Amino acid sequence: MFNALMVEKDDEGKTSASVQQIDLDRLPKGDVTVAVEYSTVNYKDGLCIGPGGGLVRNYPHVPGIDFAGTVETSDDPRYKAGDKVVLTGWRVGEAHWGGYSQKARVKADWLVPLPDGLDARQAMAVGTAGFTAMLAVMALEDHGIKDGPVLVTGAAGGVGSVATAILANLGHEVAGVTGRPDTADYLKSLGATQIVAREELNETTKRPLEAETWGGCVDAVGGEMLARVLGQMKYGASVSAVGLAGGAGLPATVIPFLLRGVNLLGIDSVMQPYDNRVRAWARIAKDLPIDKLDAMVQPAVLSDLPALGRDILKGQVKGRVVVDVN
Ligand code: NDP
Repeated sequence: MFNALMVEKDDEGKTSASVQQIDLDRLPKGDVTVAVEYSTVNYKDGLCIGPGGGLVRNYPHVPGIDFAGTVETSDDPRYKAGDKVVLTGWRVGEAHWGGYSQKARVKADWLVPLPDGLDARQAMAVGTAGFTAMLAVMALEDHGIKDGPVLVTGAAGGVGSVATAILANLGHEVAGVTGRPDTADYLKSLGATQIVAREELNETTKRPLEAETWGGCVDAVGGEMLARVLGQMKYGASVSAVGLAGGAGLPATVIPFLLRGVNLLGIDSVMQPYDNRVRAWARIAKDLPIDKLDAMVQPAVLSDLPALGRDILKGQVKGRVVVDVN
C-alpha cells in the first residue's frame, strides 16, 4: 500500500481531495512503474485538485502533472530499475493518474532520464513551469534576442521566476512584470534589474505601436498585457507566448507583425518531442543557477495540496512549490 492524493466527485458533481492509501493494482496501465520522490504545483494542478477545469477525464483521479523519481520496474528496454527519471506533460495528472502519489505507472515514451547535475528534488523545483520557461527562452534564442531588456510577465510566478533566473544568468538584462510589489526584492535576487508594475501594462491602448522597448519577452499572462507588449517590442524581436494567467483573449492588431517584424512564438510543453525535451533539460542543468533555484522553493507534502491548489488558482503562489510525496 502507498499514499496518493485522490480526488473524488460526488453525485452532485462536487469534487473533494484527500490523501488515501491505495495498492499497486489500482494504478493505470503503463510500461514503467516509478517510485515518485517529488512532484510540484502548477496552475493546471490547481484545476485538477479542485473543480477539474475540463481537464480530468475520470474520477476518482490522482492529479500531479509532473514528477521525478526512480524506476522500480520496467517492461521497456530503455529503462531499468534504479534509473532516475523525470516526467512532464503528455496529459499525465489530467487524463492519466499523475505524480501526487508515492508510485506512478506511465508509458516509457513519456519519461526523460534525469539530466546530469540535477537531483529529483531540483528537477521538481524546476518542474513543468521551469521546463516551459526554458523552452520559451530557447525559442527566443532560435529567433534571436535583440539588444535591450527582455521582459518577463507574471514574473513572480513559477514560469516567470525560472525565466527570470535563466535569462539573467545568460547575461540578459531582465525586466519583470508583477502585480505583487512586495516581490520586487525576490525578483531582483533572481537577477531582474527592472520591475514593471502590472497596472502599467494591463490596459489596452488605441496606439498599436509604442516606443520600441523590449529585446524579447517570455509571456505567462496573455490577454490585454500580451496585446500591449506586442506594440512595445523592438524591431524583429520575439515574444514566447506561454500562458494565460491574465486571460485567453488577445485584443491586438497585426501592426507590430507587419511594421516591426515582431514574432509571436507559441510554446507548448505537453506534446514537446523527446529530443527537444532532452535538450531543454540539459540546458536547465547548465544555465539555471542552483542557488537561485533554491531561493524560489517552498516545500510541501501531499496533505498541503488541497490548499495549495486553491492558492495557485488565485495567483498567490510565489515561485515554485516542491512536494515531497514521501
Ligand atoms: P503561476 O500562478 O505560478 O504564475 C502566474 C503569474 O501570473 C502569477 O504569479 C502572477 O504573477 C501573474 N498573474 C496572475 N494573474 C494575473 C492577471 N490577472 N493579470 C496579470 N498577471 C497575472 O503559474 P505558472 O507560472 O505555473 O504558469 C503561468 C501560466 O503558464 C499559466 O497560465 C499556465 O497555465 C501556463 N503554462 C503553460 C504551459 C505550456 O505548456 N504552454 C506550461 C506551464 C504553464 P505576479 O504576481 O508576478 O504578477
